[in-house]
Amino acid sequence: MSCLFCRIVGGEIPATVVHETETTLAFRDIQPKAPVHVLLIPREHVPNAVDLTAEQLGALFAAAKDVAEAEGVAESGYRLLFNTGPDSGQEVFHAHLHLLGGQKLQAGTA
Ligand code: C5P
Repeated sequence: MSCLFCRIVGGEIPATVVHETETTLAFRDIQPKAPVHVLLIPREHVPNAVDLTAEQLGALFAAAKDVAEAEGVAESGYRLLFNTGPDSGQEVFHAHLHLLGGQKLQAGTA
């Protein structure tokens, strides 16, 4: 299994998991770009956000809402973003939703 995030799902690579459901996993980004930086992924390998089903997207956003509440940023606000394709800076080709918060974020960036 070569996909990095599949290996995290499989427990082969350690990650600080903050939330999990039957179909999703959320863990702290190892190079956080904000005080709260969590990645939410489908357990199933889907290379890119645009390949996610509506059900998978719904599950990720529902999980993001729970994570934001647990991390204490639900009221102050946070950013949800998908990098999609090389020009966006996407490094890992297993779809992942970034949740960034805990500080005033610059417009349009992390
Ligand atoms: O959207 P993009 O593909 O650029 O994001 C990948 C993210 O995965 C990066 O923010 C990187 O820090 C994170 N990462 C991680 N744990 C790893 C490898 C990468 O949190 N083992």
